[in-house]
Amino acid sequence: MDFVMSLILSPLPYAPNALEPYISAETLSYHHGKHHATYVNKLNELVTTPITEADLPQIILDNPSGPIFNNAAQVWNHTFYWNCLSANAQKPTAALEKTLAKHFGSLDEFKKEFTEKCLSLFGSGWVWLSLTPDQKIVIEALPNAGTPISHNNKPLLTCDVWEHAYYIDTRNSRPNYLKNYWEIINWKFVETNLQS
Ligand code: MN
Repeated sequence: MDFVMSLILSPLPYAPNALEPYISAETLSYHHGKHHATYVNKLNELVTTPITEADLPQIILDNPSGPIFNNAAQVWNHTFYWNCLSANAQKPTAALEKTLAKHFGSLDEFKKEFTEKCLSLFGSGWVWLSLTPDQKIVIEALPNAGTPISHNNKPLLTCDVWEHAYYIDTRNSRPNYLKNYWEIINWKFVETNLQS
């Protein structure tokens, strides 16, 4: 029997306590170490060929729904989400702020609109800042494992609004989670995504 290389849970890009006090080490230990890890393990059960993280976009496109889609998209979305957060407080560069202002009026208006989408997404899902193929910047609220790569939009920023992302820290309060979220955005990552 051939040995099949399993997909490996990608490590957090910072220490587990790096996002405190906004996201606790306990939340990260469950969210990354249990939830994200479970999606990796389930995907490895479902896919019998060797895969790496780099194969996930194609797997997502080839499986538009069902268990393989759900687990592949959840793995990809979580790795992207961790990279959207930063241990070091940042501000967007003037160039990025100008781009966001062009599409949303101002940086504050963008944050307000994105937050509203996060608060009004019923149940579990992800809210994305995405670049469309015709170079429009849009906010997309996608339920469950939804991801912009399914419809060829390029993800720039995401917020995981599944309850498991915040229940330990802010209990039932998604608004308080969102307040903390804006304190730890990796704006450099957003800008790199926009330019790549
Ligand atoms: Mn999650």
